[in-house]
Amino acid sequence: MDKIKILDKSFSLFLDKKKIKSSISEIARTINTDYSGKNPLFLTVLNGAFMFASELFQHLDIDCEISFVKLASYQGTDTTGNVKKLIGLNEQIKNKHVIIVEDIVDTGITIDKIRAQLEQDKPASIKVASMLFKPGKFKVGHQPEYIGIEIPDDFIVGFGLDYDGRGRNLNQIYKIDNE
Ligand code: 5GP
Ligand code: MG
Repeated sequence: MDKIKILDKSFSLFLDKKKIKSSISEIARTINTDYSGKNPLFLTVLNGAFMFASELFQHLDIDCEISFVKLASYQGTDTTGNVKKLIGLNEQIKNKHVIIVEDIVDTGITIDKIRAQLEQDKPASIKVASMLFKPGKFKVGHQPEYIGIEIPDDFIVGFGLDYDGRGRNLNQIYKIDNE
């Protein structure tokens, strides 16, 4: 389906399955090379990154650890800039090579706060893999080191990303229609 409706908004197909999956396997290829022998720890940021993570991890052939953390910073279609604390981190990250797995980096505020919290525990390194990146909105911190697809500033849903809790299960990515 090229057009969908979620709650009060309509969306049009923006990135199809094939495009999403090939961009993710490209990231996996690079990480396989960069982290060979380093036993990285992947920290997946829930909820949004679950589909990206699942696809990414299936293409990794290096020895690694995988875990999941959580925070929330977004309501409706507006970023609040109000970032909560990271929860669910049970692993020791000291001296480990950490890769944060995110669905999307927009202003960069969320990922910057996560990096700052993790740095307190003295990992060997921290890098970020983000399925999507909005260069037009980005304003804080470092750009993600691994980026699947750069997209324009519009609000999108699908492949893990939600609109007020809906749409995460869509296996393609949809862009909001301008009213
Ligand atoms: P940032 O702190 O970089 O501005 O925003 C990051 C978070 O905002 C993402 O992890 C994601 O949860 C949410 N976000 C940013 N842009 C979008 C978007 O276009 N669609 C959805 N569904 N969430 C977004
Ligand atoms: Mg997120």
